[in-house]
Amino acid sequence: LFLLVLPIGSALGAFVQIQAGLAALDRIQEVARLEPEAGDEDGLTPGRTASAAPEVRFDGVSFGYDDGGEPVLADLSFSVPAGSRTAIVGPSGAGKSTVLGLLERFYEPAGGTITYDGVPLTAIPRRELRSRLGLVEQEAPVLSGTLADNLRISAPDATPARMVSALESVGLGDLVERSETGLGLNLGEDGVRLSGGQRQRLAWARVLLADRPVLLMDEPTSAVDSRTEQLLQRTLSEAARSRTVVVVAHRLSTIADFDRILVMDRGRVVASGTHATLVQSSALYRDMAVRQRLVQHA
Ligand code: ADP
Ligand code: MG
Repeated sequence: LFLLVLPIGSALGAFVQIQAGLAALDRIQEVARLEPEAGDEDGLTPGRTASAAPEVRFDGVSFGYDDGGEPVLADLSFSVPAGSRTAIVGPSGAGKSTVLGLLERFYEPAGGTITYDGVPLTAIPRRELRSRLGLVEQEAPVLSGTLADNLRISAPDATPARMVSALESVGLGDLVERSETGLGLNLGEDGVRLSGGQRQRLAWARVLLADRPVLLMDEPTSAVDSRTEQLLQRTLSEAARSRTVVVVAHRLSTIADFDRILVMDRGRVVASGTHATLVQSSALYRDMAVRQRLVQHA
């Protein structure tokens, strides 16, 4: 099996990061393993192929991490039309990552319903659900092993040509070019250390190769420079043509051209629209856009 290569900070920091990393590894492997569980049935609508981009909907969803504690999501409702690109923005702690966690069924809502093409998530076996979701997490884990090992974890049948093309589409082509062993480049403990931005892009490549009808991305451009961000934007536009995409974004430039942007604050959607309409209609959005120099001060 693989060992995780993790950044080491303080003693406590290291502990927390390893916990987070193992959870992430577990998810990647779970998503990668597709043999049916005993008792699994396909809970999804007959007639739709597994690869069709679905509609995703939250209906009155409430959720808290601790029973009886502060609710993190309160009566949250929104829909992501099939094949559309939706962004979720808002201050830190608003509940954005929690929305993605609920979609993956890492947690279950305390109230309300989440549906995938009209089917409640609770009616879909987790493995089946996760085989349709491509997730780029905020902290992208790197597995100790080769570059190829890291890509094959969610796309075991990927050919070298496809792997190289996925790496090129996220600006990591030079990793292969400069390596004497090509895709055999060692990312293990005694191998090449990837930067935060490279780890993030490796996670993109992994998810693009896995070819899932839904892409969920959590601040997927937070660690890259603006030139790389532009490349990733083009790659995402291309990938989004046949997929339903939900991106949690800190960097508004990444999602400014999305079909729909939801502004979240304290567990609720407080505004929604396009970049152009939100700049007019939402003070919270306008402030973020001004701070990121996307619009002039009003
Ligand atoms: P965002 O992604 O918008 O920054 P999150 O969804 O990560 O927000 O968090 C929403 C709230 O839930 C925050 O108050 C955060 O502290 C809390 N929270 C997030 N993850 C956990 C967790 N695993 N356990 C307990 N509280 C959590
Ligand atoms: Mg978050």
